[in-house]
Amino acid sequence: NEQLPRPTQRRVLTVANQKGGVGKTTSAVNLAAGLALHGLKVLVIDLDPQGNASTALNVEHRSGTPSIYEVLLGEVSVAEAAQVSDQSPNLFCVPATIDLAGAEIELVTMVARESRLKEALTSEALDQLNPDYVFIDCPPSLGLLTVNAMVAAQEVLIPIQCEYYALEGLSQLLRNIELVQSHLNPHLDISTILLTMYDGRTKLADQVTNEVRNHFGETVLNTVIPRSVKVSEAPGFGQSVLAYDPGSRGAMSYLDAAKEIAERGTKR
Ligand code: ADP
Ligand code: MG
Repeated sequence: NEQLPRPTQRRVLTVANQKGGVGKTTSAVNLAAGLALHGLKVLVIDLDPQGNASTALNVEHRSGTPSIYEVLLGEVSVAEAAQVSDQSPNLFCVPATIDLAGAEIELVTMVARESRLKEALTSEALDQLNPDYVFIDCPPSLGLLTVNAMVAAQEVLIPIQCEYYALEGLSQLLRNIELVQSHLNPHLDISTILLTMYDGRTKLADQVTNEVRNHFGETVLNTVIPRSVKVSEAPGFGQSVLAYDPGSRGAMSYLDAAKEIAERGTKR
């Protein structure tokens, strides 16, 4: 594989959209796998109590496993909780266990409740691991876990499903990002919009695609992820689609999207 440019500074991307089922986890995992395949070191932080990213990367995430929950509590470091994936020696995951389900409420009374993940990621512990990219896979809500992710990152990546209700709720997400920008993290940039689950047979998919491109312009990646059975099957095998079926359209498009993200860098 050709090498992709290594960012001069570590890039931390939060994959967010309070809608469930839009492709957050799928995109976080497969973009991470795509970058790792090109020799970059990538850490995926599973911030969803469902633990779907942990499942897709085949890392241990039974209750009690050192996870992002213990990291948020300050009990273990990110490096201690990170597990290497069996897909690539460059691909790591801090898992989420079901213990995280209570965190949204537990965080409310904690000191520095919005910046606990940021603290964990700026600590020396992360320097040992020294990833080029960190992807934070958010839960489908705009609660404190997602706020923590937005405070810890410089970039937001928003996956948008090419379907009828895709744009519904987006204004709420954008408003929340603005709030975080003005109060907690002025450096946060919506760097990347990724269109997912594109079905070329429907007119609607093209309408949504055009609407999103008109609204967000350059932020939208040229690469669009097609709806593909291989993409949805892969996590059941504890694999990214790049490992599960490298020649498939889903795998190729995630590889292209990863390349685009790496090549265009942080600011355009
Ligand atoms: P989210 O994390 O936003 O809730 P997921 O990434 O879990 O969304 O995706 C929701 C469902 O759609 C999952 O079952 C996933 O396997 C499936 N899926 C995601 N992307 C695709 C795709 N490009 N083609 C087919 N199925 C997909
Ligand atoms: Mg998810």
